[in-house]
Amino acid sequence: MGSGQVTSSEPFDFQGKHVTVAGLGVSGVPAAKVLHGLGAIVTVVNDGADERARAQAADLEALGVTVRLGDGETLPEGTDLIVTAPGWQPDKPLFAAAGQAGVPVWGDVELAWRLRGPDAADWLAVTGTNGKTTTVQMLASILKAAGLRTAAVGNIGVSLLDAVLGEEQYDVLAVELSSYQLHWAPSLRAHSAAVLNLAPDHLDWHGSMEAYAADKGRIYEGNRVACVYNVADKATEDLVREADVEEGCRAVGFTLGTPAPSQLGVVEGILVDRAFVENRQKNAQELAEVADVNPPAPHNIANALAAAALARAYGVPAKAVRDGLRAFTPDAHRIAHVADVDGVAWIDDSKATNTHAAEASLAAYEPIVWIAGGLAKGATFDELVAKSAKRLRGAVLIGADRALIRQALARHAPEVPVVDLDRTDTGAMRAAVQEARKLAQPGDTVLLAPACASMDMFANYNKRGDAFADAVRELGSADG
Ligand code: ADP
Repeated sequence: MGSGQVTSSEPFDFQGKHVTVAGLGVSGVPAAKVLHGLGAIVTVVNDGADERARAQAADLEALGVTVRLGDGETLPEGTDLIVTAPGWQPDKPLFAAAGQAGVPVWGDVELAWRLRGPDAADWLAVTGTNGKTTTVQMLASILKAAGLRTAAVGNIGVSLLDAVLGEEQYDVLAVELSSYQLHWAPSLRAHSAAVLNLAPDHLDWHGSMEAYAADKGRIYEGNRVACVYNVADKATEDLVREADVEEGCRAVGFTLGTPAPSQLGVVEGILVDRAFVENRQKNAQELAEVADVNPPAPHNIANALAAAALARAYGVPAKAVRDGLRAFTPDAHRIAHVADVDGVAWIDDSKATNTHAAEASLAAYEPIVWIAGGLAKGATFDELVAKSAKRLRGAVLIGADRALIRQALARHAPEVPVVDLDRTDTGAMRAAVQEARKLAQPGDTVLLAPACASMDMFANYNKRGDAFADAVRELGSADG
């Protein structure tokens, strides 16, 4: 394991320090440049030595940074600090060597946190297995509606380093954090933070569910105003209980049901706040209508409530929550309504790349013709299929691991008709759409929620969603 022992958040003087940057790429190259600019003696180490790496190396070497390609394991002599790409697995020999030598390891988030200035913006932080990007974007939209200078940062939009060091001045940042980033961010202290949900994911990286949960839980450490948790997901509440927070920091739950005091929830189609109001035993503040949430699927209403909770923790008025939610449009391939053809709605949730995400979108429609499959990444499908079986009109399976889903359907939904598409060529999605059309009846929803990664057939989930949308539009125009 990496040393992980640097918990002091004292300013770090980089002048003349030997800093090893682990990994070229989206975070490594900018980190190396910034550290070099701060007077550090920077060595970048990288496992691979492909063409892209060589081009990036040449670029950095021209600035005076040393780059070692093809060996990301040996700790360069004299290293005072490692700044690692968040995806680097903690059990790598490089980190074992750092641990032995007492060399601290920071991720990209830790670096940004340490480099922020004295009047820096507060961070409102969001993590969870699913819904991070959507929630952070909703939050930024709400904060903007309140007239605050803000941005959605982290895995999306502006990079954290740019947000912290760039020209633009912010009051508050809506920060998306992955479990990897949290693992490598020992001194991060957010104003308030939310864990949206916890389902097994990336366990190969973290080593165990406990380690994964513990890394997610780091987001609550040192929170000042509110730790926001999901009432329906007890594991998130447990993390709040275990966190060491500032005196006076509150636990605030969000729920799709009627909220108890210190919670946000839903009453008769209205999102209400019973946490950030005077006399919360008796009072509740109306924030927005469910119809203001786009799309108003249950899990997305949960995302909206989490975003609202963080915004309210920051002191944002109720009206800004409503205006911000209304102004929000989700990113592509997240339950995107593609078209209605012959009374059937076609929905693209290509971003549902794991079973937890697919379960959420399957819960939002009925009856459904489900298009699923791809790379399972070690997942099992029994629970997902058992929970969703009664909503299924039929299923069309694609991709390398489709047999796993077919077997789960045979076990838990034997009456549901299944089309197993034994092809992975570029026309396979069109064929899947045509098969789905045969199964669907007016009033049904055809839902692409693959519960799998896309890389067996597509470059990424965007391309998979585009192929689906193109094929659906072809159906529509053939009719028209
Ligand atoms: P992340 O950034 O965590 O990957 P996104 O906001 O990009 O999350 O959503 C990814 C997918 O996860 C969506 O397409 C949807 O299928 C699903 N999803 C979104 N929010 C939730 C939630 N609160 N619970 C479960 N699944 C969700």
